[in-house]
Amino acid sequence: MRKLRFAAFAVVAAGALVGVAMMAVATNPAKGNDEGNVPKDTREIVKDISADNIQSSIHTLVGFGTRHTLSSQTDPTRGIGAATEWVYNRFLEIAATSGGRMTVEKQSFVQPVTPPRIPVPTTITNVIATLHGSQPESANRIYLVSGHLDSRCTDVNDFTCDAPGAGDDGSGVGAVLEMARAMATHHFDATIKFVAFDGEEQGTFGSAFFAAQAKAAGMNIAGMFSNDIIGSSLGQNGERDRRDVRLFADGPPPNETPAEAAIRRTMGGENDTPARELARFIRDEAEPAVPTMNVWIIYRRDRFLRGSDHGPFLDQRYPAVRFTEPNEDFRHEHQNVRVENGVQFGDLEQFLDFDYIANVARVNAAALAALANGPAAPQNVKVEASTLSTDTQLEWSANTEPDLAGYEIVYRDTTEPFWSQVIKVGNVTSFTVKNITKDNFLFGVRAVDTDGNRSVVTFPVPK
Ligand SMILES: [Zn+2]
Repeated sequence: MRKLRFAAFAVVAAGALVGVAMMAVATNPAKGNDEGNVPKDTREIVKDISADNIQSSIHTLVGFGTRHTLSSQTDPTRGIGAATEWVYNRFLEIAATSGGRMTVEKQSFVQPVTPPRIPVPTTITNVIATLHGSQPESANRIYLVSGHLDSRCTDVNDFTCDAPGAGDDGSGVGAVLEMARAMATHHFDATIKFVAFDGEEQGTFGSAFFAAQAKAAGMNIAGMFSNDIIGSSLGQNGERDRRDVRLFADGPPPNETPAEAAIRRTMGGENDTPARELARFIRDEAEPAVPTMNVWIIYRRDRFLRGSDHGPFLDQRYPAVRFTEPNEDFRHEHQNVRVENGVQFGDLEQFLDFDYIANVARVNAAALAALANGPAAPQNVKVEASTLSTDTQLEWSANTEPDLAGYEIVYRDTTEPFWSQVIKVGNVTSFTVKNITKDNFLFGVRAVDTDGNRSVVTFPVPK
C-alpha cells in the first residue's frame, strides 16, 4: 500500500520538475553505489584484506597473556605495555609502505584514581596511525576507525589472570591493523586515523581522553567507527550467521539541549541524527563493495548493559557508530578461562571466525574509502519553515572541494528507515522541490564529486 502511494508521488515529482536543469527521479536512486560502480581502489582494498593476516595479529595479541589496562607496562612479553609496543611497531612497519603519508604516535596520559575500576593512577596509552589526506581542502576532515587493545577477565580489576581477549577486542584491533595495511598504499582526499584504544574495559578512558582532546582542538572528526567484538559468527543461541554485522547507531544525544530538542520535534528528526545518517551511508556504500555482507543497522547506542569507544565520541557530538558480531556468546566475553560442567569459558582464539572478521574489515574499509574519497557533507542545511507552503525549499552552504560536481536532495516517507528518493539539483546552494511538502516527508542534502562519490546526507534545521 505504502509503496503504491509512494510510486504515485514519485511520478508527480518527476512531472512537476520537468524543465528544470540537471534533475531526475530514478527508480532506486538513493543508494550511494551499485556493485558495478564500486571504485577501483575500493575493489583492490577489499580484495587485499586477508583473514590470515588478521588471524596472525590476533594470535600475537593473545600471546601477551593479558592486556589488562592495570597490567605491567614494562614486562617485555606479558601485559598491556608489551602489547602497546607491538601495535606501535606494527603501525610503523605499515607506515613505511605509505610513501610518507602515514604517521604513527602514542597518546599517553595518567588517569587519576577513578573508583571502582581505576584503583591507582594509571598510564593509559592509545596508539594512532594517521593516513593523511591528499586533497588540501579535505585533509582536515578526519575519519577514525578503532578497536580496543585492553582485555579483561570475570573480575574487571583482576590484572594478573590470563585475559586472552581474542574476540574482545583482539578481533577489532586485528581488523584495524589489516585495514591500515591494505589502505596505506592508497590515496584518499580526507584523512583516516587507525586507532587502538586503551582503558575501554575500565570505562572507555582512552577514547574519552582522545575525544575530549579532539573536541578542544576543534578536530573535524566527520565519522568514527568502533569495532568491538567482531570475531565470531556463532552465537550462544546456536545460530551461525556469517552474513550480518550489527551497526549500532544512536538517536538523540543525552546532552541534547532543550532548544535542540524543540527543533528535533519540529523536524521529526529523531531518526536523523548524524550517527544514523553515517550508518545509512555505511550500509549504502559497503554492501555493494562486499556483496556477501549485510549491514544490520540497529537504532540504538549499544546493546543493553554494554558500551564501547563510540560512546565518548557521541558525547562530544561526533558522528560515531559501533560494529559488533550478530549473535554474541557471553561465555566467551569477560570470563576467566576455565571449563565448567564440560563447557569451555573464556575469550579464546578457537571461537573466532577469521573469514568473518575479514569481511567485517572489508565493510569498514569500503565505507572509509567512500567517506575519505567523497566530499564533506553539506553544511548549514536549512529548510524554509517560516511560511505555509506546498513546496519544500532547501538551502545550504557551498562545499569547498575543487572536484565538487553538485548536490542531491534525498527524501523518504517519515516511517521509512532509509533514503529512497533522490533529486539531482546540480551545483547550486538552494532548491525548491515543487509540490512535495515537507509536512509529509523527511528531506536531506548530500554533495557529489566529479567521480560520482557522494557525501553523507545532512538533515536540515528549520530556517
Ligand atoms: Zn570490548
